[in-house]
Amino acid sequence: MQLSMTVWWGITALLTLLLAIQFFLYRQKKKELDLQISENMRLESKLTDTRRDLAELNARRKKLLAASTQGLIIVERDGSISSANKVAKRIFGKFRKEEITLMRWTRQHQLHELVEHTLAGEKMPAMYFNAADKVLEAHARSIKENREIVAVALAVSDVTELQKLSQSRRYFVTNISHELRTPLASLQLLTETLLNGALDDKEMAPQLVEKMAAQVDTLSQLAQEVLDLSLIESGRAPLKMAPIPLNDIAQTQIERLSLQAERKHLSLKVEIPEDISVLVDQAMINRVFTNLVHNAIKFTEQGGVTVSAQMPNGQTEFGSREVESGWIVVGISDTGIGIPKDELPRIFERFYKVDRARSVGHESGTGLGLAIAKYIVEAHGGEIWAEGNGRAKGTTFYFTLPTDEIVE
Ligand code: ATP
Ligand code: MG
Repeated sequence: MQLSMTVWWGITALLTLLLAIQFFLYRQKKKELDLQISENMRLESKLTDTRRDLAELNARRKKLLAASTQGLIIVERDGSISSANKVAKRIFGKFRKEEITLMRWTRQHQLHELVEHTLAGEKMPAMYFNAADKVLEAHARSIKENREIVAVALAVSDVTELQKLSQSRRYFVTNISHELRTPLASLQLLTETLLNGALDDKEMAPQLVEKMAAQVDTLSQLAQEVLDLSLIESGRAPLKMAPIPLNDIAQTQIERLSLQAERKHLSLKVEIPEDISVLVDQAMINRVFTNLVHNAIKFTEQGGVTVSAQMPNGQTEFGSREVESGWIVVGISDTGIGIPKDELPRIFERFYKVDRARSVGHESGTGLGLAIAKYIVEAHGGEIWAEGNGRAKGTTFYFTLPTDEIVE
């Protein structure tokens, strides 16, 4: 009996022990499982974060591509395009990504070659090419993965305007050098003549010196005009607007040129009502008057020059144009050689001179005076134009200026 009790207790103890071991193992397993679960949850939240970061990064990349003023294209090793922003599509046209290669899309052999060379590991300089009527600049950079070139990033910009600008700068410099050469050559010749004996010739010497003075005048006018142009163009000379009686401006400028008119026996009249006041930058408008009246005297041999101004009260047509109220029209009319009708639209271009041959006998000029006058008038919001005087010989230059009334 006692034995069976002992066996019974033994079995019970064994069972309890087994149970305890099971329980212990279960706890251990649960702990591991809990750890696994929390690790999984941590990984999952990390994955969510990474996915969100990736989406954000992708959105930013898209924004960056869209905001770029350059056309950006990514070309894969097989020639297919994996990415192209809006600017690139504006330059080369739309395309369906799946079915197109760079060559088929852009039809630019040079661009294709640039990509090929870059894929081959060469560092390529910027490349310029024409597409339609544009001049384009392209840069290529390789994209590497594990030190292997897998794709090429292309940046394409439209440099048409820049090219035009640098071309017009080159043109400007060529013209200026040409304009400098003529008076300088004359000065050199006159100096040599004086040094070779003419200095002692009492009759000839003053004539030669007078000719030298005229050439120096031409040079200083050229210097002034170039300075004016660069100042106006750079925008470093903001307009200092003030109300000024128009008659005062015209009279002062005319007086400065009266000697020149007298020398040619030309009449020089100002017909501007005293009560007209304009809102202008006086120093600038002085230039417009001088340039136009100077031209009128220069290209007139008989008769004279009249400066007049009218308010478009009731009358709205001046020459062939209509003028709104709030503006004053100034007309500078001469009885000179006139300007052929088909040349009229071009005379305001820089360096443009109507038929250079007819300038012989007239004082030579640079062809910048009217371009400067146009800049100044347009900076005031006005217009400038020229018209033939019908059957009567000569030309009338018109320009509009804002009246003082606008600010009141
Ligand atoms: P610059 O004024 O620079 O000394 P310019 O007088 O030749 O030189 P603009 O004043 O720009 O140059 O004039 C351009 C051209 O227009 C002149 O060369 C001339 O052929 C023509 N022109 C201008 N004004 C008159 C005018 N009143 N009558 C006839 N032709 C004119
Ligand atoms: Mg001129």
